[in-house]
Amino acid sequence: MRQNFTQWEKLSDFLELDALKREFIHKTPHFPLNLPYRLAAKIAKNTLDDPILKQFLPTLAELKTSPGFILDPVQDAQFRKAPKLLHKYQGRALLVCTSACAMHCRFCFRQNFAYETQAKGFEKELEQIAEDASLQEIILSGGDPLSLSNHTLKHLMDSLSQLKHIRRLRFHTRFPIGIPERIDEGFLSLFENRPFRSWFVLHINHPKELDQDVFTHLDALQRQGVMLLNQWVLLKEVNDSPAVLKELCELLVNHGIFPYYLHQLDRVQGGAHFEVSVERGKELIEEIAKSLPGYAVPKYVREIAGEANKTPLF
Ligand code: SF4
Repeated sequence: MRQNFTQWEKLSDFLELDALKREFIHKTPHFPLNLPYRLAAKIAKNTLDDPILKQFLPTLAELKTSPGFILDPVQDAQFRKAPKLLHKYQGRALLVCTSACAMHCRFCFRQNFAYETQAKGFEKELEQIAEDASLQEIILSGGDPLSLSNHTLKHLMDSLSQLKHIRRLRFHTRFPIGIPERIDEGFLSLFENRPFRSWFVLHINHPKELDQDVFTHLDALQRQGVMLLNQWVLLKEVNDSPAVLKELCELLVNHGIFPYYLHQLDRVQGGAHFEVSVERGKELIEEIAKSLPGYAVPKYVREIAGEANKTPLF
């Protein structure tokens, strides 16, 4: 993570952006630039028109206010049951276990989230989880749970292993596409002899984010019995074409990763330039469904705050 690009000048030099293109960069964004080196290395030089760069480069478009685009579009705050625990859906709760990510995505709905920074550890959250026998599944989110050390994750997983009602542990992560080396031997050993099944929900938006190195590390996880899914966001000028979506779905299923959810963009303030209309989204799903097996077509959904589950759009 220390090798990540966090300064726009260094990234611009690396990408050989000319002076005109640098004028479009938002130099002092509230959500700072953060881009792993290996992703930056995949970006085309001297262009702003690259599907990876568009996801991570702060631009002046973020300053535009648009009706309906707000700070907390999924209303996370109202579902807080303990400082780091959100309980939205029946049977599962989400642990916001860190604010740190391997990368900062410009469209992230949690970029304004008031992370709990005072309490160290997860005592209150684990107490709450222990008391609620209706919870079968814990989702480790953030931030990105792979930002935590193996030591901290072991403590967390050992504590959850003591609770008989917890049957599934889910990781929401984008780490593997940016820093796949994070899936090291120590991390892999965390999954041995657990009383629950472990699921990884990856976040891969474009085929360019994938390569053999990423697959090798994900394969190692699969060999530990971890199930892999992908959920991703429909993003304008990033993946809003049938060819790109189809290529991504095929790559995923060819490597045993289930294309789970395609999300309509959560309307976070500053993210309006990423929005694709629902009409267009439906057309895209209809198009790719013509040439893919059913299991390779994701569910196209939107999160509506307060709903008992994600709302299907198609
Ligand atoms: S990795 Fe996930 S949590 Fe982190 S900024 Fe990107 S979308 Fe948000």
